Amino acid sequence: MQRLGDIRVGAETISTGDALGRVTAARYVSPTGLPAFARSSMDGYSVRAADTFGATESLPAYLELTGEVPMGRAPQVALGSGDAAVAFTGGMLAEGADAVVMIEHTQQVDDGTIEVTRPVAPGENVVQRNEDVLPGDEVVPAGQTVRPQDIGALLALGITQVSVAKRPRVAIVSTGDELVLPDVTPGQGQVRDINTYTVAALVEWAGGIPVPVGVFPDHLDTQCAAARKAMGLGDVVVFSAGSSMGSRDMTAAALSGLGEPGVLVHGISIKPGKPTIAGLAGQTPVFGLPGNPVSAMVVFDLLVRPVIRALMGCVPTEFRPTVTARLTKDVPSASGRQDYFPVSLSQGTGGMVAEPVFGKSNLIFTLVRADGIASVPLNSGGLYAGEPVRVALF
Ligand code: AMP
Ligand code: MG
Repeated sequence: MQRLGDIRVGAETISTGDALGRVTAARYVSPTGLPAFARSSMDGYSVRAADTFGATESLPAYLELTGEVPMGRAPQVALGSGDAAVAFTGGMLAEGADAVVMIEHTQQVDDGTIEVTRPVAPGENVVQRNEDVLPGDEVVPAGQTVRPQDIGALLALGITQVSVAKRPRVAIVSTGDELVLPDVTPGQGQVRDINTYTVAALVEWAGGIPVPVGVFPDHLDTQCAAARKAMGLGDVVVFSAGSSMGSRDMTAAALSGLGEPGVLVHGISIKPGKPTIAGLAGQTPVFGLPGNPVSAMVVFDLLVRPVIRALMGCVPTEFRPTVTARLTKDVPSASGRQDYFPVSLSQGTGGMVAEPVFGKSNLIFTLVRADGIASVPLNSGGLYAGEPVRVALF
């Protein structure tokens, strides 16, 4: 059987400057060292350290000013013993210098002389050649999400193009006779489609490209046709709603017609999110998310997001931002089930506090009022007020 962990979307080459948030498809090593030359890390004077030894406020060392090394230029001055040259932060040292005296530790006596009131050791206030990175050092591993500093490091080395995983296309099919488009005023018994849009936004956050296929009624042939269309459009297929076992629930049937091995999981022991479907149709991961919008979002984060990341070859150790906070209320839980609940966070006197935002799970505004999601461990029976919880931030 095809292992999900082996399935990958392809790679593409893009400008490094456009790579923010993308996942590297190759490992990048430094072609050169940086900095390429010893640089002053201070404004001041480049000197021979030995000429400053023993210098104090009351007995300064007097050095002859021989010129300056301009920024972005090779030094035109060479220091003999007892000489100094003006140095700028990031500039090269004068020929023969091995340290820089901070301007704060000097006084200009006249046009040609400075006094130095503190000694410097060789190498002081100097960033040595190759101190930042050595030739052959790893800059960015494969499978890493590119951050602003990675873009800076790659470009500093002249790596102007990078190979990144393509963004997986995620086809989104919303089902339900009761759904209308958001710009329509719902009639009796109708509701506006939320999931097409929340799931699309979650796909974007996960690094994928959302491909909304449309809203389809609870009619088997129609849904099977929608499923086939979604297969043609996406690297991943996500159905919303119709994922329970009722007579109006056709997602499992629609998804199982797409290919082998088909539906692998139907129902998971979490709340919200029990009516969840997960499977594989050939090379395409397929999901049936619960229709209720909060459940859909919780299950997306738990199952779909990691699959989108894995398709891009993300390193499995990738972690999401979490904070630990103390609960303000008891949170009950049935055993044999993992409970997820939204919380709003605030800064208390003794650290962060997490206020559970209770509500029936189909209320999207419980999530709107929350800052993140916490969970009750599988068989703990619940959590007490005052206990610390890990909160995954939105
Ligand atoms: P179902 O999973 O089909 O049993 O639907 C569960 C609940 O979610 C029902 O109240 C549906 O009306 C609601 N629901 C299903 N799909 C959506 C959607 N796309 N947007 C908002 N609510 C939905
Ligand atoms: Mg339904």
